[in-house]
Amino acid sequence: MGVNLSPTRYKVCSFNCVYCHYGWTKYLTSDLSDFKNELPEPEDVKKALENFLQKKIKIDYITFSGDGEPTLHPDFEKIVDLVIEVKNKLLPHTKMALLSNSSTLDKKEVIDALKKVDLPILKLDCGNEETFKKVNRPCSSVSFDQIVENLKNVGDIAIQTMLVDGENGNVKQKDIDDWIEKIGMIKPRWVQLYSLENPPADGSLGGVGKNKLEKIAKQTEGKSGVRVEVY
Ligand code: SF4
Repeated sequence: MGVNLSPTRYKVCSFNCVYCHYGWTKYLTSDLSDFKNELPEPEDVKKALENFLQKKIKIDYITFSGDGEPTLHPDFEKIVDLVIEVKNKLLPHTKMALLSNSSTLDKKEVIDALKKVDLPILKLDCGNEETFKKVNRPCSSVSFDQIVENLKNVGDIAIQTMLVDGENGNVKQKDIDDWIEKIGMIKPRWVQLYSLENPPADGSLGGVGKNKLEKIAKQTEGKSGVRVEVY
C-alpha cells in the first residue's frame, strides 16, 4: 500500500528523471516550504491510514512513495512515527518500506526516519555526475558525489536502479562500469535492477531487455560482490 506525501494537483520533486512515468517535474526543488498548503498534515495521514487499515485488507508493505520525493515533506519523520503507531495498533506484522531518490540523506531527521523503516530502497541510476545530470536532472542543491557519500554512510539499504536506453539513457559501457564501481563502494544489502514498464517523460527513451539486465546483474555481482535482482 502506497503512502503519497506529495501535492496532488501537480508534480514537485528534487529530480526530473527522464524516465519518470508521472511526466516532467513541474516544480524542481528540494525545499517544499512554499508548498505547505498543498501537503498532507501528519494527522491527515494518520486518519487516512486508520480508516484504511480498519478494512483488514492484507498488506505486505506500507510504502512511502508517489509522484514526488516523500522525504521532502517537512514532517516526514513525524509521519513515519505516526504510521508506525497506527500499524502497530491495527496490523502489527505489516512491514514498512520507503522509495526515495536519495537526495535528502544529508538531513539528520531523514536518516533517523529511514532507520525506523524495515526496507529503505534508495535510488542510484548512474555512476558519474554527467549521466546523473542527464538522466535524473536534479535541482541545483543536489550533488552526485554527496549522494554517493551519503549512501556509503547510511548503512543497511537496498539500491534501486532504472536502466534506460537512448540518447538520454544510462547503459553505455562507461556508465555501467562507473555505476558498478559505486555499487562496490556503497555495498548495499542488494540491488534492484529494472527498466521501463510505463511510458516515460522523455518519449525518445527505450527499455532495456531482460537478457541485457541479467548480463549487467551478473557482471555487477562478480565485480562488487553485491546481490542483484532483476525485475
Ligand atoms: S525521483 Fe521519482 S518522482 Fe521524482 S522525477 Fe524521479 S522517478 Fe519521478
